[in-house]
Amino acid sequence: MFIVTLMTEATELFLLHYGAVRGHGVPIPGFLIRLRDGRHILVDTGCPAEIIGDAAHPFEVGPHEHVTGRLAALGLAAADVSTVVVSHLDPDHAGANDEFPHADLVVQRRQYEHARSSGLHRYEWMRAYWDDPRLRYRLVDGDVEIAPGVTVLECGGHVPGHQAVLVELPETGPVLLAGDAWMRGTDPAARPMTPFDLDEPATRLAQRRLMEIADARGVRLVIHNHDAEQWASLRHAPDGYR
Ligand SMILES: [Zn+2]
Repeated sequence: MFIVTLMTEATELFLLHYGAVRGHGVPIPGFLIRLRDGRHILVDTGCPAEIIGDAAHPFEVGPHEHVTGRLAALGLAAADVSTVVVSHLDPDHAGANDEFPHADLVVQRRQYEHARSSGLHRYEWMRAYWDDPRLRYRLVDGDVEIAPGVTVLECGGHVPGHQAVLVELPETGPVLLAGDAWMRGTDPAARPMTPFDLDEPATRLAQRRLMEIADARGVRLVIHNHDAEQWASLRHAPDGYR
């Protein structure tokens, strides 16, 4: 008789609130995954520290909402993060990448190359914070298990090479951090596009792919970025999902 155990190194998932899009209440999310050996994987870094308390900035970041403040509230420093998963290089997701020069930053090659070469405002806006020569980007192609039980899933469309994260938790089971690729409660064929979804057919395909993976893997918790209603219903740091 064989006993099949799904091995995961992830022990806990924390949701980090990095602030909001001013005037819209749209949350800017990040995630921290704690591993069994004490290392931490951060998913997205949010906005730069320079805009904390800046009442004129389109992103609203309170004094304790910057990534370093969120980590400090968990008793951690930026140096305690060994890996940063970069879902994509939009300003509200990669605006504090420069806080992590000691970490490996995992990004899809297609996204990195698009962000560096397209000249689009969405990337150029915070470029000084993510295109910093001190940063160690690890370019990946497609789906990659970056630690046992933590897998990045390529789901480009919103931008080329956007990626989601599937994390296996010991008690909660598989959780999908869908990033900006899946609009909750919508049919991928019929969902509205946002002004920031660059490629409509690819965006629809990406959501469908994530839905199929979630089905196949028995995912019971899918976390959708920028979804104020769902975000308010979830457990935030310092509480975590085990
Ligand atoms: Zn976003």
